[in-house]
Amino acid sequence: MASDHHEIRERVKQLLEKPGNGNCADCGAADPEWASYTLGVFICLSCSGLHKNIAQISKVKSVLLDPWSSSEAEFMESVGNNAAKAKYEKIVPAFYYTPTHKDCTLLREQWIRAKYERKEFQCYREGFLWKRGRDNGQFLSRKFILSEREGVLKYFNKHDAREPKAILKINTVNATFQPTKIGVKNGLQITYLKDNSTRNIFIYQEDGKEMVDWFNAIRAARYHYLQVAFPGASKSEWLQKLTRNYIKEGYMEKTGPKHTEGFKKRWFTMDDRRLMYFKDPLDAYARGEVFIGSSGNSYTVLPGLPPNIQGYHWQFGITIVTPDRKFLCACETEEDQKDWIAAFQTVIKRPMQPQEYAVEAYFKHKP
Ligand SMILES: [Zn+2]
Repeated sequence: MASDHHEIRERVKQLLEKPGNGNCADCGAADPEWASYTLGVFICLSCSGLHKNIAQISKVKSVLLDPWSSSEAEFMESVGNNAAKAKYEKIVPAFYYTPTHKDCTLLREQWIRAKYERKEFQCYREGFLWKRGRDNGQFLSRKFILSEREGVLKYFNKHDAREPKAILKINTVNATFQPTKIGVKNGLQITYLKDNSTRNIFIYQEDGKEMVDWFNAIRAARYHYLQVAFPGASKSEWLQKLTRNYIKEGYMEKTGPKHTEGFKKRWFTMDDRRLMYFKDPLDAYARGEVFIGSSGNSYTVLPGLPPNIQGYHWQFGITIVTPDRKFLCACETEEDQKDWIAAFQTVIKRPMQPQEYAVEAYFKHKP
């Protein structure tokens, strides 16, 4: 055993020779002899004392004096100062005073807390949120990770799961606060596309600040994505595309493609040019999605239903004409009918963007 311990310590000592590990990860002092074996960084004696103030995040050991397990040594090997800097100091603002070993404890302690405790300089967010279960509607605590580098938002069903339950690509993610519809304080609806179809998840956090921070973190990740994907666009064009609220939502009745199926009450959501309908407002995915193009491309919306149509209970009809077919809906009140027509008009009046033709083509060839 004794020789084992000796061997492991030698392994950890060897790591001090690796690039980046020869200086304290936090203050840059030469030849650190301490390490945080939960963060994977080598630090000086003085900074190790400050890490003890954030013991819930950072556990420290002397490289030379304390016993080391092989798994701890492995972890130190897998991280190290350079990798930790890349993660924890990714977005340190240019003006931020980065302390050295000559600076006072106050500056160094707050730098360490900002890096590891508050994670202020990471393009990354991780935490637990309440997520509504798809089948039973119960909210369960789920771990969420937003990774700007990977361009994804993911969540895990089991706290110790290695594989995420779902990976949401940030380029298709939208987030909008919907406390009334979801029925919980701070409720946030997140949508994303899977195989070009919209998927919904519903989450919340009791702590309102935490929830708004998540919302803005999603916007930050989307901003970063748009800057890279559309470098020629302007700042205001990027800002417009970060997140969007729905144009309109609510119940209408609808019939099927033959117009003889009878009308059924459905929850409709107008999300930009996607008109979706759901059996339940909190369904994970839509029963159907319809692309609403522009008047220049043969899309129109008209009050009323064609003659000889039967099977509706609500009296205020709407006919949505697309190049392929007519969609027939009915509203409960005249006011609702007016609001829906106005909602459709906002997108129909707007000429289609080049990238919207690709979306339209997808809808046309949808199986
Ligand atoms: Zn230090």
